Amino acid sequence: MSGDKYEAVIGLEVHVQLATHTKIFSISSAAFGGEPNAHTDPVCLGLPGALPVLNREAVDAAVRLGLAVGSHVRPRCRFARKHYFYPDLPKGFQISQYDEPLCEGGAVTFRLDGEVRQIRLTRIHMEDDAGKNIHDASGVSFVDYNRAGVPLCEIVSEPDLRSADEAAEYLRAIRTLVRYLGISDGNMEEGSLRCDANVSIRPRGESKLGTKAELKNINSFKNVRDAIEHEIARQKVLLGRGERVVQETRLWDPDRGISASMRSKEEAHDYRYFPEPDLPPVVVDEAWLLRAGAALPELPEARHARFLGLGLSAQDAQVLVAERPIGDYFDQALAAAPAHPKKIANWLINEVLGRVDDARKLMDQDVPVPPAALAELVELVEKGTLSGKLGKEVFGRMWQQRRRAGDIVAAESVSLVSDTSVIEAACQRVVERSPDEAARFRGGNVKLMGFFVGNVMKETGGKANPKIVDEILRKLLG
Ligand code: ADP
Ligand code: MG
Repeated sequence: MSGDKYEAVIGLEVHVQLATHTKIFSISSAAFGGEPNAHTDPVCLGLPGALPVLNREAVDAAVRLGLAVGSHVRPRCRFARKHYFYPDLPKGFQISQYDEPLCEGGAVTFRLDGEVRQIRLTRIHMEDDAGKNIHDASGVSFVDYNRAGVPLCEIVSEPDLRSADEAAEYLRAIRTLVRYLGISDGNMEEGSLRCDANVSIRPRGESKLGTKAELKNINSFKNVRDAIEHEIARQKVLLGRGERVVQETRLWDPDRGISASMRSKEEAHDYRYFPEPDLPPVVVDEAWLLRAGAALPELPEARHARFLGLGLSAQDAQVLVAERPIGDYFDQALAAAPAHPKKIANWLINEVLGRVDDARKLMDQDVPVPPAALAELVELVEKGTLSGKLGKEVFGRMWQQRRRAGDIVAAESVSLVSDTSVIEAACQRVVERSPDEAARFRGGNVKLMGFFVGNVMKETGGKANPKIVDEILRKLLG
């Protein structure tokens, strides 16, 4: 959009489903799926007289999230009723937080095209999820309340995002973060991560915000990008025609690639917020914060910086921090072969990651090549016992047969031939066979070294130690 008259301004409201065992205010399972209405109880069904009891595990997850993004976690917060009517909301109100959210401030840090970006957060509050309406093809509608009462954290950003790509990257950073923290699976397809995008445009250089439209029904990273791109373009057309942007909620239709007005934007007073009378205020004391803070893992951005410090490329660092188990695997392999961070990264990215269907399973007990085994292979290659090519072959066998590199090398003599007499004989044969090339080499065409080395490798089935080959050839052709 640079060189453009308008600048886009975007703020996201991201809902994260917390992976707790039970619902936020009641005892039924918070697991995804299950037979419709199997995970229900009087509280989440909104039956008269049923009283909510706050799930400590959910608050703890939200506290961890708040600490990870540097929010101020309130020592005391409270819940509020947000009223609206919809069949998937049997209570007639959502239990959310309004004037006293759990977390305020903080920022999400990530990289966009190698540059560090920080998007400020307004707040993070807790609330219960609604059920799910299912519209049958025959025109009948059903409601599944399994999701009703599942704990959510809503992360509200400041309008700091400036492009669709940046918004998508921000959302990705949140997914990575909640997975690192182990508080959500961050799965967009299953709805554990959802977002509404608020979009406006304004003339470049203007500091006042333009009128925004809010986009709903965004359920994939592609949709985030597409919906926002489309909305920016739509608003530009309106302003270009001398019309105004109307403040409203719009529904993104991913199949048709367009959005349609859903309703004019509701105001806070429409919801008749008031403090939830059935729940006492939540108190998060110093001891709780200390405990939660001490249990935080190394966060993605800190890890990224550390990996760059080891000499890894930005691209490799990005891959290694994308999922926590990838970085954990890397770190364990590095501990076993500390001299070779770049080589370990290469082997991990090119050989290991290509063989697992889900990188999150990388640290499982049954991964065929555990980190220490990869480190052992890397050492063998770096020592010259194996060439890169042989190393790959050995790796393939390690993966298939669950064996260690040292064992394969010892049992099957796949290691490089370092016996100088064998190599010398091969070199001699090659040089004798190629008198013209030998003469040109001696005449100064040193590039022909590759030709000789290649032929010796062929002679020895790729098993000659290249360092020794090089030495002997130089002597013979010297
Ligand atoms: P509302 O009261 O309409 O819900 P909020 O002030 O609560 O609006 O903001 C909701 C989200 O919209 C936040 O993420 C915020 O950053 C974003 N936002 C607010 N104003 C604008 C704007 N003019 N353009 C883009 N995003 C905006
Ligand atoms: Mg709002």
